[in-house]
Amino acid sequence: MAVEATANIGVVGLAAMGSNLARNLARHGNTVALYNRHVERTEKLVREHGDDGEFVPSATVADFVASLKRPRTAIIMVKAGAPTDAVINELADAMEPGDIIVDGGNSYFEDTIRREKAIRARGLHFVGCGVSGGEEGALNGPSLMPGGTEESWRTLGPILTSIAAVAEGEPCVTHIGENGAGHFVKMVHNGIEYADMQLIAESYDLMRRGLGMEPAEIGDVFAAWNGTELNSYLIEITADVLHEVDKATGRPLVDVIVDHAGMKGTGTWTVQTALTLGVPVTGIAEAVFARGLSSQTVQRGAAAKAGLSGPQARLDVSAADRDAVIEDIRHALYASKIVAYAQGFDEIMSGAKEYGWNIDLAAVARIWRGGCIIRAQFLNVVSDAFESGDADVSLLFAPYFRKAVDEAQESWRRVVAKAVEGGLPVPAFSSSLAYYDGLRSGRLPAALIQGQRDFFGAHTYGRVDRPGAFHTLWAEPGRPEVEA
Ligand code: NDP
Repeated sequence: MAVEATANIGVVGLAAMGSNLARNLARHGNTVALYNRHVERTEKLVREHGDDGEFVPSATVADFVASLKRPRTAIIMVKAGAPTDAVINELADAMEPGDIIVDGGNSYFEDTIRREKAIRARGLHFVGCGVSGGEEGALNGPSLMPGGTEESWRTLGPILTSIAAVAEGEPCVTHIGENGAGHFVKMVHNGIEYADMQLIAESYDLMRRGLGMEPAEIGDVFAAWNGTELNSYLIEITADVLHEVDKATGRPLVDVIVDHAGMKGTGTWTVQTALTLGVPVTGIAEAVFARGLSSQTVQRGAAAKAGLSGPQARLDVSAADRDAVIEDIRHALYASKIVAYAQGFDEIMSGAKEYGWNIDLAAVARIWRGGCIIRAQFLNVVSDAFESGDADVSLLFAPYFRKAVDEAQESWRRVVAKAVEGGLPVPAFSSSLAYYDGLRSGRLPAALIQGQRDFFGAHTYGRVDRPGAFHTLWAEPGRPEVEA
């Protein structure tokens, strides 16, 4: 029997993310076609959540495609990499020109650019769409970052808008730009998330080991900080994690969790891409490296055994000064966070230039205000800064953030200095501060590096007093300078 085309959207891949996204779509009035390689997942979704709305399950790709109204629009939520390629090809074979394939997985943006080109050549639209907020976000409202053509956005926009998180009355979705722009922005979002988490972890360490505070006490500090400009989802859940007690041992849960931070690769991609683009994302890079160091079990074990020398990871602070130091840490966290965001947006600006995307940075900040892991009050002012043009060069030059860093920086410097003296690692705090000081230095020691490069490799240098490229004949008597 011929399958009737009744669904306005389809979802392929019904594991945790796909099934929640399908349910969210159905709950918002969409008729959702369903397909999963193993039909059991499809059956389970309809059995357990059929009441959420209109579902049209299919056991084959052909039936799935036939159940979609034109232009047929299908969101793929399967494992990134080869499985995604396989499903894209299967769908493209069954679809017709004008139809839209959306990859909602965590794909690398260069893959998305490649796939978009190949699918466009077949007359179909391909949209790489960043989906943030995990399983909970997929069900109750994610932040969505779709790329692809304007034409596909006209069909897809209302559908994605119906399921996106809402922040201050606005849906957390915008058309980011052509081809891989959506996945690029999602990648940088994740890089910023790494930096945010590392900065919070360093703040925690300064209080836990540096000041000898108990996790619950530190949880209270984070809960209080959530009432300040640091207000955010990550600060809020940090307080919850630190208040959690392990049922088996009665100890703070954080004390029984193995201290190896895992990662799935988007932070690494952010840093690799930044290196290729020549953008210094030092805070994000240190966050990725810090996770790497945490998981270097062999080296850390050997270091503990060898008893490498150094201070005992305590801050030299009297009881009377403790609260002032905690306030310093809060300021250091805020200033470093501003740097991390400035660097992340810098990477988006550079990526947009390199790949020819017209990305509205104010809109990006706005759609991160809800649904995603880095959602925060702070993004309102970030958005305003880009909207007004004050952050055209860097977020750090927008008056609001200039003032914030100005007010925070004495504390920031004290925290980094005390941490270094006390032997507490604060790679994200200190690298963010070094970036800030580097940025504001009128003259950098890079002049010496150019001299060295010219000495050993005749790489030439520019002069401060006249244009051109110059080379010193270092080996010749009198070291004459020639114009290169
Ligand atoms: P998984 O990444 O665990 O992928 C499982 C799904 O992929 C199943 O539906 C599975 O089908 C399907 N699949 C695997 N291999 C193939 C194949 N060769 N052909 C067809 N289908 C295949 O599921 P998640 O729900 O966790 O994530 C889905 C996507 O969303 C991933 O790309 C992930 O990176 C991304 N994502 C995940 C987030 C999260 O928080 N988990 C957040 C944002 C994005 P079957 O049941 O038949 O095995």
